[in-house]
Amino acid sequence: HGENIKETQNLIHQSKTIFEACMVYKNLFFKGDILEPSADGWNLYEMKASTKVKDEYIPDLAFQKYICEKNGIKIKNCFIEYINKDYIKQGNIIPNELVLQEDVTGDVNQIDDIEENSEKYIKIIEQGEPLEISISKKCNKPYECPLKDECRNNLPEYHVLQLTNWRKYWELFEDGILDIKDIPKDEILSSDKDQVIKEAVDENKIIINKDKIRNFLNKLQYSLYYLDFETFDTAIPIFDQSRPYQKIPFQYSLHIQDENDKVKHFDFLAQREKDPRPELLVRLEKEIGQTGSVIVFNKTFEISVLKKLAEDFPKYESFIKDTISRIIDLAGLFKNFDYYNPIQKGRYSLKAVLPAITGK
Ligand code: SF4
Repeated sequence: HGENIKETQNLIHQSKTIFEACMVYKNLFFKGDILEPSADGWNLYEMKASTKVKDEYIPDLAFQKYICEKNGIKIKNCFIEYINKDYIKQGNIIPNELVLQEDVTGDVNQIDDIEENSEKYIKIIEQGEPLEISISKKCNKPYECPLKDECRNNLPEYHVLQLTNWRKYWELFEDGILDIKDIPKDEILSSDKDQVIKEAVDENKIIINKDKIRNFLNKLQYSLYYLDFETFDTAIPIFDQSRPYQKIPFQYSLHIQDENDKVKHFDFLAQREKDPRPELLVRLEKEIGQTGSVIVFNKTFEISVLKKLAEDFPKYESFIKDTISRIIDLAGLFKNFDYYNPIQKGRYSLKAVLPAITGK
């Protein structure tokens, strides 16, 4: 970054707005987003792809401010720029409406331990050996640690962190009970799901709640429509009548099973760069019929996609409402562990459930 550091100094002398300004102080370095000259100092801007201001952005700006000031650059104000989740694209993007700004100068100024922390962290980096730190609640905060799987590989195959009640599993973990099999018999697991997990592990068997499964099957009305959407989302909306990070369906798969177990398959895949939603709606309305259960895996996702479609294309509202009223969530059975195989290890996603049932 040597060139960038020099260029930053040049532009500072010319009092120009700098994108990706780079600065060093001792062995500390930052590459910021925007450094802007103001009447009596400079303003720092941090651009975030997030739709809200998060606490962890503040120390980042405080670190940049600290280095700037050690270089003799007085920072007047600090801002976070973030995405307006309610922005709806109509024609050209209007940057001032898409991006919101929050003045966080007060919060940044309250941070006064940059020097102390930097020295501490540098010592840790220079140590060569990683610190002896155990798995804890901190592994998820503020971000999920990317080494989580590696660390957990050292735990027993069926470890207590696979339980669903996090208060309980941390309590057990901190008491040194790592293996589900070691949970004492008199330990009260208040969650029904955790009792299922424990029973499955202790007895090494698949737990099946036949009554619940029978009730589920009794609710089904033929023909059955197995529906699955694929979506994509972008921070800057691409299509008119869409918002930042809105999930845009570009593909669906629809298997229709009649009472004689005959299965027909339909699918939709967007072909061009244009908005896939209008064509998808025309096809879906034609193929999904008007009666029969619509089976999805994890209804929250499919329902939210359908609701947004109804909002953005009101012409289809009544067909979408009818479709939503026909939805039955197959994931519900697995979420409640009405079927539970120990190899699911506390999970109920399709990736966990499919091998548990098919053995593949
Ligand atoms: S999961 Fe990450 S944060 Fe947690 S102990 Fe392992 S390396 Fe440290």
